[in-house]
Amino acid sequence: MTTHAPRTAHSVTLPASLDEAVAALTAMPAAVPVAGGTDLMAAVNKGRLRPAGLVGLGRINELRGWQYQDGHALLGAGLTHARMGRPDFAALIPALAAAARAAGPPQIRNAGTLGGNIVTAAPTGDSLPVLAALEADLVVAGPSGGREVPVSHLLAGRAMLEPGELVAFVRVPLLHAPQVFLKATGRTGPGRALASVAVVLDPARRAVRCAVGAIAPMPLRPLEAEHWIASLVDWDGERGLAPEALVAFGEYVAAACIPDQPPAAEGEEPPPLPPAVLQLRRTVSVLARRALGRALS
Ligand SMILES: Cc1cc2nc3c(=O)[nH]c(=O)nc-3n(C[C@H](O)[C@H](O)[C@H](O)COP(=O)(O)OP(=O)(O)OC[C@H]3O[C@@H](n4cnc5c(N)ncnc54)[C@H](O)[C@@H]3O)c2cc1C
Repeated sequence: MTTHAPRTAHSVTLPASLDEAVAALTAMPAAVPVAGGTDLMAAVNKGRLRPAGLVGLGRINELRGWQYQDGHALLGAGLTHARMGRPDFAALIPALAAAARAAGPPQIRNAGTLGGNIVTAAPTGDSLPVLAALEADLVVAGPSGGREVPVSHLLAGRAMLEPGELVAFVRVPLLHAPQVFLKATGRTGPGRALASVAVVLDPARRAVRCAVGAIAPMPLRPLEAEHWIASLVDWDGERGLAPEALVAFGEYVAAACIPDQPPAAEGEEPPPLPPAVLQLRRTVSVLARRALGRALS
């Protein structure tokens, strides 16, 4: 269905299927897809974006649910934060549900979608550290068919959406093990993250995966800290760790993600970090310690 918004003269297309959406975007490469509109319309209202046309994704039912595939969940890009926050979804992918529950006030969670959160790729996007820790892939639909792209490649700019392409699904492994998402904000109540941490246990691989959000343009993975802590976990036993190990993990993660500045000259002490940066490092350390503690408890 195509309508023409009279006052703006922009074309607005409302496809009912993924194929129709790809066809609409291919036919009009200057048009942009819009899902919940919480990011896109804010950019339009501020005059930062003037799309020549809009392709609304809200009527595409196949994007709004999920299905199971080879030990993975194939999540529709049109899943709203509100839907992902519900208990049945939380039982599947607890950290993504926790991130969805933390993503802004209720009216934003009712409209904002997983796909929009990923494509906006804001440093404060709450789903992003979870998807990084889960090593999730995007299933992209386009005029020449489908392709898979690691979420981390899109966020790092190593892969881009080509003209006519859409994020259709997000492929997430079902790990059947504890996973935690924690977020620190500058105020009480809903707010953008100052820092966030996702910790995911992967018992089949005897791995702990961790990603830190909001402190850099894309989520950071402290790989050495992950390997070190995984080597301390008794995967066949209680899994719990001593409090000192949890504290050390938090500090390891924080120092990896917010390193000391290099010394001015060889042999000199590194200059102290500014107080605000030190505070952020402490916040990351506490979040990582708590997230791991909860995942292992
Ligand atoms: C007041 C307020 C508070 C917020 N708080 C938070 C918060 O705490 N945490 C958080 O993470 N976010 C927050 N947000 C940001 C926003 O709500 C999320 O990023 C949301 O998930 C965006 O989804 P959307 O469906 O609204 O995207 P849209 O605005 O519809 O689209 C965003 C971008 O993604 C593109 N796009 C959308 N879907 C697709 C697709 N399937 N394929 C290709 N491109 C696509 C659009 O073209 C556009 O470029 C907040 C926003 C507001 C306005």
